[in-house]
Amino acid sequence: MKRILKKAYAKINLHLDVTGKADNGYHEVATVMQSVSLCDEIEVSLSEGDTHSIVCSSPSVPLDSKNLAWRAADLFFDKCGIEDKADIKIIKRIPVAAGLAGGSTDAAAVLSALNELCGEPLSEGELLSLGAKLGADVPFCIEGGTKYADRFGDVLHPFADMPACYIVVACGKEGVSTPWAYAMLDERYNDFRGGAYTPRSADTLERAVESGDVVLTCRNLYNIFESVIEPKRPEVTRIKSLLISFGADGAMMSGSGPSVFGIFRDKNAAVSALNELLEMGIDAFIAEPIG
Ligand code: ATP
Repeated sequence: MKRILKKAYAKINLHLDVTGKADNGYHEVATVMQSVSLCDEIEVSLSEGDTHSIVCSSPSVPLDSKNLAWRAADLFFDKCGIEDKADIKIIKRIPVAAGLAGGSTDAAAVLSALNELCGEPLSEGELLSLGAKLGADVPFCIEGGTKYADRFGDVLHPFADMPACYIVVACGKEGVSTPWAYAMLDERYNDFRGGAYTPRSADTLERAVESGDVVLTCRNLYNIFESVIEPKRPEVTRIKSLLISFGADGAMMSGSGPSVFGIFRDKNAAVSALNELLEMGIDAFIAEPIG
């Protein structure tokens, strides 16, 4: 039986802002997303069974239709009118519910793998639209690299490639539910009505990234969620400070948290920061940007 192996890369947000709230209650965002080399490994094959199957190395991930990878397989076969099922194996390395798009990237890998296994019935554009039905981050996870995204985070635009650097991703123990994080933002910024919040432009970040200057890039990182998550998750603030004290040029929370990333120009500094965090019992990984 033919199998496809995919690396499903995590994402971090270099910029994440809310620009408004649509009538359907969804938040409109402006974000710059970056794929990083921290990844899950996904193996997909067509199944001989009468249902999908998922095997995963992590006990904290559902193995049924609650798994985004399962829903990706359902959606793909439905869209293509193919009567088939998928067997999916996931080696989970991306921390779960951490703001690193772990579920979205697995779903993206399954969509791309099934499209390859079935002889590419869907164009890249069709795959992206299908991905958007699963979650706003899925189209980015299909394309990867460095992208600016707006609307609900599902409409992608080109962005300069991030300069070469080392990224230490660290994760506090207590997870964050994204709906809870948005509810806190709504409370603080009056549902983003009546000028209660002025979004920040990503233009200076774009110029910094284009210039290839890592330090300038770090000075222009922004995540609106820090304002509501840091008071509730002091570990986020602590890990950011630790990363800076270990020599990071900048550190910020990713997505709605609680994961934090530190950006380093120097590999040795990044490796020793990683070791310090691990010795303190903090889950941490070293990664590089994926172009
Ligand atoms: P995002 O950054 O897209 O908001 P996240 O990184 O914060 O996502 P996930 O790791 O995707 O969060 O996990 C969110 C929830 O999704 C978890 O409660 C988990 O049980 C569920 N889930 C469903 N499928 C998966 C999957 N393949 N991998 C991880 N979590 C999954």
